[in-house]
Amino acid sequence: MSGVGKGVASSSIGKILQSRGLEVTSLKIDPYVNVDAGTMNPTEHGEVFVLDDGTECDQDMGNYERFLDRDFSGKNYMTTGSIYQAVIERERSMGYGGKCVEVVPHIPLEVLGRIDKAAETAKANIVITEIGGTVGEYQNILFLEAIRMAKIKHPKDVLTVLVSYLPIMNDDNEPKTKPTQYAVRTLNSAGIQPDIILTRAKHPLDEKRKEKIAFNCNLREKDIISAPDVLSLYDIPVNFEKDNLGNLILEKLSMRPRKKDMKEWRAFAKRIHNAKDVVRIGIVGKYFASGKFILADSYLSVIESIKHSAAFWGVRPEIRWLDSGQFEAVKDGGRGAEGLKELDGFDGIIVPGGFGSRGVEGKLAAIRYCRENKIPYFGLCYGMQLATVEYARNVLKLKGADTTEIDPKTKNPVIDILPEQKKLMAEKRYGASMRLGACPAVLKKGTIAYGAYGQEKISERHRHRYEVNPAYVKRLEHGGLVFSGVSPSRRLMEVAELPRAVHPFFLGSQFHPELKSRPLRPHPLFKEFVKAAAARRSAIHPNSTINAMGSVAK
Ligand code: GLN
Repeated sequence: MSGVGKGVASSSIGKILQSRGLEVTSLKIDPYVNVDAGTMNPTEHGEVFVLDDGTECDQDMGNYERFLDRDFSGKNYMTTGSIYQAVIERERSMGYGGKCVEVVPHIPLEVLGRIDKAAETAKANIVITEIGGTVGEYQNILFLEAIRMAKIKHPKDVLTVLVSYLPIMNDDNEPKTKPTQYAVRTLNSAGIQPDIILTRAKHPLDEKRKEKIAFNCNLREKDIISAPDVLSLYDIPVNFEKDNLGNLILEKLSMRPRKKDMKEWRAFAKRIHNAKDVVRIGIVGKYFASGKFILADSYLSVIESIKHSAAFWGVRPEIRWLDSGQFEAVKDGGRGAEGLKELDGFDGIIVPGGFGSRGVEGKLAAIRYCRENKIPYFGLCYGMQLATVEYARNVLKLKGADTTEIDPKTKNPVIDILPEQKKLMAEKRYGASMRLGACPAVLKKGTIAYGAYGQEKISERHRHRYEVNPAYVKRLEHGGLVFSGVSPSRRLMEVAELPRAVHPFFLGSQFHPELKSRPLRPHPLFKEFVKAAAARRSAIHPNSTINAMGSVAK
């Protein structure tokens, strides 16, 4: 079922096996017809994650990369759409030698071919393949068929794990095992018997329930693993090992037992628990609301990146969602100055990536407030572009300065669309057509960015169509904005910042640093930002250790 934690479960299994010295790679199958996640609205599908090679994919790929500390590529990701596209293209070029191409077996065979390719590319001992969606729905039936075929071909090398949810009606009630039993029956009818069941539930599963599931689902009790809710998702691999999951998997795959080494990971997970001093970070955005619910998923990597850096500095992040609308003028439906005042209570503000005009004036007002009141500010992609617009408008006094994404006719287009992007837009070629993936940049010595990375050459992931307009670079620099990172050709501005003497931390990156932060290797810019936020906190509250919980920092 979507949201049950299959991604984190797969990542954690990967971590466990990796900690036993195995090379692990991960693969995600998304059962939708979109060829990739690039065209999907984040409120519907969560954040769009971007890989080095520019693949726009599901946020679970981010989990895999974070847990395994590996860089993946398009070879690690597929959708129904991409599979069909490949099969149809192959058929059109006579790749099937005149045969009748059928849904079965050709679609599952294409899936299996890709699993092999992923293993080969990573020289992996283990490939973890996650099938998205829910057992029993139409969408993923061909992927289950692929797994059935793989198991028939290689019975000793394929292991299937079902992640199942055990609902409880109220807190004193027993977790219900029936849905799990039915899920297994449904899997059985697709020709698959799970080898292990991970039982997602609020609390750890008791022996009685384990026994019941084992008996009804053709397994031994020790094949039923507890996956209770946890405070921090980085605890999950450690928790799984409490149920001996690593040994169980090795045994089932007929692999020799191996010693595990999870020391560093455990220490990291522990630092999250032990951190007491709070830093309050506000994320100003618009992809929060879905009906009555707040969807933190739209900015998942941003949240995780904050957590990695906070753990590094031993502080506890308290992350709040700030709807940009509230910072707009009262006449435009916002709370104006009163709304902005609330920013004083924060130690750092982030404006993350975004598209389109809704909420932009509010974001600009928030950025201005942070700049003028010396609140640490970190702009990610759109947040960097808008910081540039704000600076042009309010410091350089360039009337009506804007990004042409919002005002195509502005007199001062400080942010403008790349010429090569204009053509694509005119032809409505929206899919996989932004400036995507890893691009190199060069940092300027003596800047915050350079100090953070400690090196001149960097490579970061991108996803955007607009850029700082080269025609305005000189003027912005004269006005005090420092472009501390540029593309090797010097045509594209990659990092903009204000000198430390002017502001404790006011920096934006055209790229998405959140896509490359890892638990044990926090991203340099996030590290600097969280450090600046912690410094502000301790300046304002010198002796306080506020033992509060982050609102979303699970
Ligand atoms: N909308 C902006 C652009 O396309 C920023 C995109 C983003 O934040 N990822 O350039």
